[in-house]
Amino acid sequence: MAKKEFKAESKRLLDLMVNSIYTNKEIFLRELISNASDAIDKRYFKASQEGQTGLSRSDYPIRVDRDEDARTLTITDCGIGMTDSEMENNLGIIAQSGSFDFKTENAKEDGTDALDIIGQFGVGFYSAFMVAKKIRVVSKAEGSDQAYVWESEGADGYTIEPAERDDVGTTITLYLRDDTDDDQYSDYLKEWKLRDLIKKYSDYIRYPIIMNVTKQ
Ligand code: ADP
Ligand code: MG
Repeated sequence: MAKKEFKAESKRLLDLMVNSIYTNKEIFLRELISNASDAIDKRYFKASQEGQTGLSRSDYPIRVDRDEDARTLTITDCGIGMTDSEMENNLGIIAQSGSFDFKTENAKEDGTDALDIIGQFGVGFYSAFMVAKKIRVVSKAEGSDQAYVWESEGADGYTIEPAERDDVGTTITLYLRDDTDDDQYSDYLKEWKLRDLIKKYSDYIRYPIIMNVTKQ
């Protein structure tokens, strides 16, 4: 499948993320875990509305897996999932609110204002590009037989293709950037670091967050 381009307003946010002018990069994990939680909420409430009983939030975990050799961090949820068109509409463009557009159009093009904008605007999914050089999203929507994979290396666009996945839900794999003098991205592969971040940012999440741990 040919690469698709991001919409103009998404490109601008993407540029800010890819060029990482925002110093608080670690918030990417909060954003991805809160998306996972939102997706599980949707599935959970749908199930309860449909009259399913005996539902327990503890049966809907969010997994955080790290692979130090491959330099990947993976967040997996058993949420509502996305179809190919939902991937297209939700990951390819900035939230429909238009507030980002409004703010960027009215802001000066300098770094400080960009930081302000990011601060005010829930940066969401794209914040993962602050730490990842490539992102792969595999998802199967509830009620769909076909899974899809969305993949992007940032500014030059994204692809969506059919994929294999047994269960409903979403897996987001971040291929972390190489370490620099200023940023040790490999910290995000360390158990202690992830533990800290999950504690700091995701204490309020109502689903279990499970992490693969190093065997002693
Ligand atoms: P927001 O969460 O404010 O809507 P995001 O950029 O964080 O904005 O996410 C954009 C959209 O992508 C979400 O609204 C949702 O529709 C979709 N999305 C992101 N992550 C997931 C996920 N793990 N499962 C299902 N949908 C997701
Ligand atoms: Mg979000």
